[in-house]
Amino acid sequence: MTSSAAKPLTTASDPCVHCGFCLPSCASYRVLGTEMDSPRGRIHALKAIAAGELELDAMVVGHFDSCLGCFACVTACPSGVRYDQLLEATRPQLNAPELRSSSQTLLRRVLFALLPYPQRLRAVLQALRGYARSPLQALVRRSGLLQLGGGSLAAMERLLPELPKEAFHDAFPVVTPALGARRYRVGLVLGCVQRVFDPAVNAAAVRVLAANGIEVVIPPAQGCCGAVTHHQGETAQTQQLAGELIDSLESVLGPGKPAGAEPLDAVLVAASGCGHTMKAYGTILASQPAWAKRGSAFASQVCDIQEFLAQVGLSESFQAGLRPLALPDGNPASAEQPLKLAYHDACHMLHGQGIRDQPRALLAAIPHIQLREAMEAGVCCGSAGIYNLVQPTEAAELGQLKAADLSATGADWVASANIGCSLQIRQHMGAAPRPIPVAHPMQLLDWSFRGAAPSTPKRP
Ligand code: SF4
Ligand code: SF4
Repeated sequence: MTSSAAKPLTTASDPCVHCGFCLPSCASYRVLGTEMDSPRGRIHALKAIAAGELELDAMVVGHFDSCLGCFACVTACPSGVRYDQLLEATRPQLNAPELRSSSQTLLRRVLFALLPYPQRLRAVLQALRGYARSPLQALVRRSGLLQLGGGSLAAMERLLPELPKEAFHDAFPVVTPALGARRYRVGLVLGCVQRVFDPAVNAAAVRVLAANGIEVVIPPAQGCCGAVTHHQGETAQTQQLAGELIDSLESVLGPGKPAGAEPLDAVLVAASGCGHTMKAYGTILASQPAWAKRGSAFASQVCDIQEFLAQVGLSESFQAGLRPLALPDGNPASAEQPLKLAYHDACHMLHGQGIRDQPRALLAAIPHIQLREAMEAGVCCGSAGIYNLVQPTEAAELGQLKAADLSATGADWVASANIGCSLQIRQHMGAAPRPIPVAHPMQLLDWSFRGAAPSTPKRP
């Protein structure tokens, strides 16, 4: 038995009565079909490890690595089993180097050294700029080179969208004033992947907030919230990133804030994976005496942007300014021909934060929108942080299922409020029976308010 297996992982799995009600909602069980890749099987394994009947070895770790951390099983469980807490307590112990192959360990190290640092990510992407949709890309794809590395390299390459110039620098002023009378004052966290891979989302979010009478403060030095590392049990790096993000907001708003700066009503984010992690800063930083209180205080201010807007309500002037969006044929939507919209529930929004109705209510404010529901709205799309890079085969299968499910709604657009999901769905929509474009709800509201023509990044 390894040293990490020597201590009991947890006993909180005891309420599980092994009924199996969670199995149909489990994405890994869906594609792998084995008990050990289901929540019930993993809970059984944890109990066996705690009882000294099973070793935590590479095979067991493989069954935990196949878990997406989507927490659909938590929503589905009638006995209230908190698999999310079990997984978060277990994941740090899976990261001992001897428990994964050297190539898997190296890949994870590269991803954790790159993704949470927008400047490093931008430097790499700058070097690759011009590659996406170029003749070189077609040549490289044909060469088979991308199949080296067990499919992870190909998965990364497929996610590369064409990047606009805004992807390479944050062009926001520190303070964007409210239009008209100010109702609220909020901070905005840009998200390390979102600001690079789809910068139009944050730009739309700022415009929508300002148009609703909300002043937006964006600390220029902000980094990553730590979601990418948190979901993989990289505790020390997550705590470091969380502390740095708190510092960056406090430098503008906290004890060291410029004279005259006012407190915030909330800290918002337009990427649900980030929001889920920032709401957990109290727990993430609890073991750090210097940070515990600041972590809890910060977490208590965090709101998903849709959660906040639904709570405070769209302003009367904003609602009055909303106009019908264009149909695929270019004509404006009407009562006779509404624009059909399928809202995709990101797991860290639906299962992680319990936010379901708020985004739908905001979208319903756009004139002549008809919301369509996907059959399997609560099942993960396969993105799940770095899952689509470290488990590319399972992620691709889930991505295809999700794209087909959304396409089958007959919708004209998909609304997705998490950057990882949006990239994953765009990537797999090409193979769907009826490919449809994907946009963030803030973009749809922004286009409607400005009367602008919808556009999103081209599919890779
Ligand atoms: S986790 Fe919940 S739903 Fe799943 S087997 Fe255990 S008790 Fe049943
Ligand atoms: S978190 Fe998601 S993938 Fe993991 S066991 Fe639960 S439902 Fe399955």
